[in-house]
Amino acid sequence: MLGPIRFAATLQSLYPFWWNEAKIKATQEERLRTLLAHAVEHSPYYKRRFSGIDVTTCALTDLPILTKAEMMENYDDLVTDPRLKKADLGAFVDDIRNLGKLYLGRYGVSHTSGSQGQPALIVQDEHALSLIFAVQFARATKLKRRFLPHLGRFLNPARMAVMTVKPGFYPSAAAFAYIPRYLSPLFKVLRLSYSDPMADNVRRLERFRPEYITGYASALESLGREEAEGRMNLRAEAALKQITNVAEPLSDEAGVWLEQVFDTHVADEYAMGECMVLSSGCIAGRGAHVNADLAILEVVDEHNRPVPPGVEGSKVLVTNLYNHVQPIIRYEVDDRVTMSAEPCPCGSPMPRIARISGRTKDQLWIDDGGRMREIPYYVFLVPLHHVLDLAEHQILQTGPRQFVVRLVPLRGKQLAVDGIRERIMENVRAEGLESTIEVAIEVVSEIPRGPSGKISRVRNEYALTKSRPQTQERAGT
Ligand SMILES: [Zn+2]
Repeated sequence: MLGPIRFAATLQSLYPFWWNEAKIKATQEERLRTLLAHAVEHSPYYKRRFSGIDVTTCALTDLPILTKAEMMENYDDLVTDPRLKKADLGAFVDDIRNLGKLYLGRYGVSHTSGSQGQPALIVQDEHALSLIFAVQFARATKLKRRFLPHLGRFLNPARMAVMTVKPGFYPSAAAFAYIPRYLSPLFKVLRLSYSDPMADNVRRLERFRPEYITGYASALESLGREEAEGRMNLRAEAALKQITNVAEPLSDEAGVWLEQVFDTHVADEYAMGECMVLSSGCIAGRGAHVNADLAILEVVDEHNRPVPPGVEGSKVLVTNLYNHVQPIIRYEVDDRVTMSAEPCPCGSPMPRIARISGRTKDQLWIDDGGRMREIPYYVFLVPLHHVLDLAEHQILQTGPRQFVVRLVPLRGKQLAVDGIRERIMENVRAEGLESTIEVAIEVVSEIPRGPSGKISRVRNEYALTKSRPQTQERAGT
């Protein structure tokens, strides 16, 4: 019974109208000090890393930055429960049958999408897992601002459709697999896979009559086309209350267009597996509000200097204030974010993110009997989610049908290339591409950086002389 009571209390405390700037600041400060003290006491890594720093008084900017490679290299020392070991957790997520099972009876496990170069393991306790849903209820939906109306959900569960790549341990899918049992009567979840035939997805959506749809910008745009061109008719059902974009930047034009097509609000959420409640989509307009009581988002330039609101940063540093088992403090993420300098018309006192952009990626494509066919990069990327000793990767198209997957191991680690090749070829076969494309795997010690100092992880060298469209992607959820 403790779970539901704690959830109700959390939900109640999260409502934005209890908060003002002073309370946000005080709560953030208090939670930061608790996190730092816990990290230094229980994590050998942070004890070493923060030695000589007084964590009761230091400024956040006095603390060193954590990269994903650093976190994964020091994983066993970084977590605060000594029973958690990278190798065991890696084996756990390798078996899809474990999805939704609590590790050691208390932790949800996920891995990030690997779009940042390498996958990262994330472990969080049940409170953190329920917080994802409490924040969603309290801050990201327009209608239910108080707790009592939620009780009606036991009779009439919210219908949520989620469109991801495939079922798996990546954060947006794992969050739903780990819904605490006492919350499951509140939702019905329809999981759709981006790679299934669109006609099947449309049929399932029409039957389900979703109130909420969550998906990547590109998936939402394809659904928008189905609706706009008359192959789907969700608008007529008038059930839809909100569409939420995650994981890819959504342009203003696409957001406005989707709102017209579906006649509903489109929220834009910015979060990542390392901090699932980083922000909630604004309930009134574009952009998202940082949940500054639960996380700290620093927008910085390439030398980690703070960038003022209104100016685009070159990366962000994220501090997760609620995950004590895997402390994530000033964690570097390669997204370009612009904070708003103006208060938000929706009235939320939480800082507003005006714009989020990701890295520009090339498209991969082949000539399929005179027709251009796009090869989704996740065909190559998804198998890499399991390679926990990976430091960096690059997917290259080098010829009309030739692809190269370049891999850099973590320092002092070796990669099992045969196993990786087998997993990639499994995916290539599943897409029906085995007789169409050639894939080579290269293990290298370094991947050359582009003029911006960043690695382009999906690069089409063959098409460089031809002008092809580009898409963007941000740190994956
Ligand atoms: Zn707002």
